[in-house]
Amino acid sequence: MTTQRVDTLIIGGGVIGVCAAYFLAETGRSVTLVEKNDIASGASYGNAGLIAVDHAIPLPAPGALTQGLRWLLDSASPFYIKPRLDPDLIRWLWLFRGACKREKMLRAIPILLALGRASIALYDEMHARHPLEDAYQRRGRLFLYRTQSALDHAKRELELLQQFGVRGDVLDAVAVHERFPPASSAVIGGVFYEDYAHFSPHHFVKNLARVAQSLGADIRQRTEVLSFETSGKRIAKVRTTRGDFQAEAVVLAAGAWSAPLGRALGLRLPIQPAKGYSITARRPADYPELPVQLSDDMVAVTPMGDALRFSSTLEMAGFDMRINQRRIDASRRAMRDYVRAGGELEEIELWRGFRPMSPDDLPLIGRSAALGNLIVATGHSMLGMTQGAITGKLVSQLIAGEPPDLELTPFSPDRF
Ligand SMILES: Cc1cc2nc3c(=O)[nH]c(=O)nc-3n(C[C@H](O)[C@H](O)[C@H](O)COP(=O)(O)OP(=O)(O)OC[C@H]3O[C@@H](n4cnc5c(N)ncnc54)[C@H](O)[C@@H]3O)c2cc1C
Repeated sequence: MTTQRVDTLIIGGGVIGVCAAYFLAETGRSVTLVEKNDIASGASYGNAGLIAVDHAIPLPAPGALTQGLRWLLDSASPFYIKPRLDPDLIRWLWLFRGACKREKMLRAIPILLALGRASIALYDEMHARHPLEDAYQRRGRLFLYRTQSALDHAKRELELLQQFGVRGDVLDAVAVHERFPPASSAVIGGVFYEDYAHFSPHHFVKNLARVAQSLGADIRQRTEVLSFETSGKRIAKVRTTRGDFQAEAVVLAAGAWSAPLGRALGLRLPIQPAKGYSITARRPADYPELPVQLSDDMVAVTPMGDALRFSSTLEMAGFDMRINQRRIDASRRAMRDYVRAGGELEEIELWRGFRPMSPDDLPLIGRSAALGNLIVATGHSMLGMTQGAITGKLVSQLIAGEPPDLELTPFSPDRF
């Protein structure tokens, strides 16, 4: 097959790859993106669609391991790790354990907030400039609670985040009903966070890919990267199902699949796939334009135009596409418990996808020390939609040799 010479080759057509293609094309650079399926067919398709700026307490935090072990025993729980003797999983858990320290958590909060704040400003700009038709809204997010212990815990989290400038309010049951009339009488209170936006994620990614194309980006779907050829400290060739590529710069933005692709390059990226589910239903006419979290059960509910999506669970069981019906039923039950009329919803689609989990909950963004023309942009865990725009911009700045908008040291792909 032919060998094509390109300037920048992006691997992966999810939110990260497409945002990088957009920012590169927007600054007049030549860019080619290869995607093995369709644009937005991975985690960026059916997720909760939240630009969750205030979601800034990392998953590895003091107590996370104890809570995780408790959930491990419950097959309907929202969090699950399939115990297995996989050296990559064992290494990931070891690194996760190392990150579960209070001082590390406190260090991560302002970094996550900086990523989110820079990103939401870019999302505002992109939506002002292009007709992305993804139902983008900035309305904040309301966390609902049925138990006092969970509400008390949420208050402590808000107090911690307020020290970093996060804006939020604790609401009693009456104030919750005023803001969100469908809340059932089981809800005893809530916490409202201001800095959240929401949209339909696959509409955003697909339409942004079209904008990038109109700016000159070459987007190739159904083009799968199979292997690489390296020469010294460079990637000499990228072999795909539709020919070979020689690129000045290669961007690895393949989400959860970045780990197996990295392995083919001799890199050991600590990224584990973490399956999540979503159920999309037709949105009732009177349903408010406000994302809520059914907090005790960890189910996110996001309005997306005329659809309403329920997203939940984090299952670390490798690339296993099977659907655990007990967890799906637990989400449906949670909806009925918190929201009146939840039982009458007309379901349209059941989906699952793999989050690319990094062990310290910070993404991997930067040039690889081992391969000079490789830029890694992956491991965005539960916040890839949130951090997509800023990641795309940082990648374009790295390629252009410009000073990055954010200090990149915390995101070094070689930090583990
Ligand atoms: C249930 C659920 C809810 C979520 N909710 C939110 C949320 O509300 N807010 C938020 O910020 N984040 C959320 N996330 C996380 C978010 O979806 C991910 O972090 C994000 O989509 C990752 O984007 P990505 O581009 O790295 O990966 P992906 O979207 O998975 O894209 C990677 C792409 O690479 C392609 N690819 C893989 N291998 C190859 C190859 N060999 N050759 C070519 N292409 C290849 C894949 O086909 C895929 O399209 C959620 C995730 C889940 C599962």
